[in-house]
Amino acid sequence: MDAAKYIWMNGEFVAWEDAKVHVLTHTIHYGNGVIEGTKAYKTDKGYAIFRLNDHTTRLKESAKMTLIDIPYTVEQMNQAQIDLLKKNEFTGDNVYIRPFAFLGYGVMGLYHKNAPVETVMAAWEWGAYLGEEGMQNGIKLKIVSMTRPANTSNMGKAKATANYLNSQMAKYEAIDCGYDEALLLDDQGYVAEASGAGFFMVRNGVLISPPNDNSLESITQKTVIEMAQNMGIEVVRRRITREEVYIADECFLTGTAAEITPVRNVDAREIGNGARGEMTEKIQSAYFDIVFGRDKDYEHYLTYID
Ligand code: PMP
Repeated sequence: MDAAKYIWMNGEFVAWEDAKVHVLTHTIHYGNGVIEGTKAYKTDKGYAIFRLNDHTTRLKESAKMTLIDIPYTVEQMNQAQIDLLKKNEFTGDNVYIRPFAFLGYGVMGLYHKNAPVETVMAAWEWGAYLGEEGMQNGIKLKIVSMTRPANTSNMGKAKATANYLNSQMAKYEAIDCGYDEALLLDDQGYVAEASGAGFFMVRNGVLISPPNDNSLESITQKTVIEMAQNMGIEVVRRRITREEVYIADECFLTGTAAEITPVRNVDAREIGNGARGEMTEKIQSAYFDIVFGRDKDYEHYLTYID
């Protein structure tokens, strides 16, 4: 990864190489931590963080769900991210921001009420999550053997580190089988989401995305729905089965890192014409206009840091 200069840790900036923890850090052992994935883009007016307040609010909400008491307000954490971007003097096209909170050193055993909470904001320059080639021509998606954990056993709406064991196993399986990314079903057999992104398909001109019954409430998914509706595209949220995906006209993934990634193949079935679909391209290009500050209608989603 591309190291940056500073990381914000518990209210202070520390040098990137000094942002360390003890090996007996609670979260390393039991997996209770919460993360965000936020992105800043270099606009004509300097870096702007996309939907900063929504991401930071989700971090706070994830922490509430997993009983982690973050000792900072959303406003304080927003400011920390703005300061972090300024202090690091980035130069690239975009910067990925990873705010997170975890249980630190000093308490062992599962009961975590007395474990110290550590709050961190890190940022670095990161290229296309699923590759530049994938952004142009589409990626190959595998519906993997792993399903999302049932809502009775886990909390899919928390962006909790513990949920990423499921995502990691799914992603590994997909890549090991020669695909680029994993699509997970829920425990009822309906499409939930990809290992780190939301799912959309197009059929007969209608844009369809599953409800968030068993998936993260994706901020990019929400943005795409708003954009599509503003473009006059009919959007439907409903459950999707595996075979519907195979006969979709277009599919794409959405996420802060994945942005709008076209899907050209699912489980050896070519999707549409086996390339980036027309509606996908339209939404992808409109999304980049928004995040790079070229679309004034969505400027309220940008927090300029300069
Ligand atoms: N689902 C999962 C499991 C993810 O990790 C992500 C990435 N944060 C998403 C969906 C997409 O969420 P967002 O659009 O808010 O980045």
